[in-house]
Amino acid sequence: MRIAIRICFLIAISGLCAAQARPFPGPDVQQIYQRLLPQIEKIPAFDHHAHPGYADDPDVDAMAAPPNASLAMRTRDDNPELVAAAKALFGYPYNDLSAEHSKWLLDRKNELKKQMKGTAYFDSILDKINTESSVANRAMMPDYLDPKRFPWVFFADSFLWPFHNERETGRNPDQGVYIPLQEKMLKRWMQQENVSQLPPTFAEYLKFISQVLEDNSKRGGIAMKFEVAYFRPTTFSDPSRAQAEDLYQRYVAGGIPTEREYRTFQDFIFRYLVEEGGRLHLPVHIHTAVGIGDYFNLSQSNIMNLESIIRDPRYAATIFVMIHGGYPLERQAIWLAAMKNVYLDSSFGELTQYPSAFKDTLKMWLETFPDKITFGTDCFPYNQVLGAEESYWLGVQSSRTALAAALAEMISENEITEARALELAHAYLHDTAVKLYEGRVH
Ligand SMILES: [Zn+2]
Repeated sequence: MRIAIRICFLIAISGLCAAQARPFPGPDVQQIYQRLLPQIEKIPAFDHHAHPGYADDPDVDAMAAPPNASLAMRTRDDNPELVAAAKALFGYPYNDLSAEHSKWLLDRKNELKKQMKGTAYFDSILDKINTESSVANRAMMPDYLDPKRFPWVFFADSFLWPFHNERETGRNPDQGVYIPLQEKMLKRWMQQENVSQLPPTFAEYLKFISQVLEDNSKRGGIAMKFEVAYFRPTTFSDPSRAQAEDLYQRYVAGGIPTEREYRTFQDFIFRYLVEEGGRLHLPVHIHTAVGIGDYFNLSQSNIMNLESIIRDPRYAATIFVMIHGGYPLERQAIWLAAMKNVYLDSSFGELTQYPSAFKDTLKMWLETFPDKITFGTDCFPYNQVLGAEESYWLGVQSSRTALAAALAEMISENEITEARALELAHAYLHDTAVKLYEGRVH
């Protein structure tokens, strides 16, 4: 009893807990929110996951949205919040985005693009939303993005698809869009390395993969990204090198592998890439949420399938960033961050949910592993009017307001002090992600 009192006294004087945590915020929560928000808005952000670029640029992603995909309510182009985005970024004078009015927006953007030479246009967008730098997760980098402010995260999926892909392409209309784009991406890596056809031996194929990774790193790539969940289940077996080598020899020159054979081969290549990510200090980003396209299979691409990879001590040297934090399984997903080398990115959650719901996600994460979560927008040029610019704005605004609200509740509920809340805000919006890249980003 006496010891307990003494411990509590020590904790109290160190300012950690003035009182026991309580289950409801007090009447001060709104005031705390109002006090925190302007301070959080002043923190220059590092956007850990985004696809900046113009709507007519095919390199903003290594895949494309399938035709006629269903979109969640907030990500449709009739979301009235996009009017607020256009007003804030471009001084848009109208209160709707009717075809006639959106022409004004299109003209204004084109005018600015003409006025601002080189990389100035997208730099100015980052300035307007107080983002210091933003990952550009793109197939290739364009000359209109400044690599100092837009560090490149390249795609690594295409190495999984070197054989004849008729079966995969024909599986459903979405795969019919995705798989040919993977074939195209692999050809581009081959061109980059001056390789005109697949190497004849498996050892040389692995060497070719490593060479692409090394060259991409030299060309400014800070991480490799997988969107493999769009193309196949994310359960990865653990085949031997001999098994993979045998399959490569059998299919490199032609023939169609069975589904099982192809997956076995891919499982080995995926693990090889993960291991190379550790050796080359290239963190591995993995899409872990539900995805666009009506055929996206959430149960087969459940983030928990990846436990067999990320909890494997052979990959302890590889940093994993679970892009989109497993949404809508973010509650389970935060426990993956118990692994020292695993981080969760919150992008897309802040766009597909409204801040009231996203606040609860952030709060639960902040209460569990606050030093393992990072901010991202998943901005994307959906079309000429709803561009990367507007989705950057909506993502940043939503994240900052939800963060301020989550922290205000935690302060009011006696979980943390206000000073600690601001430390957590800096960590989430900037510091935690930047530390993963060893001085290559800021
Ligand atoms: Zn994305």
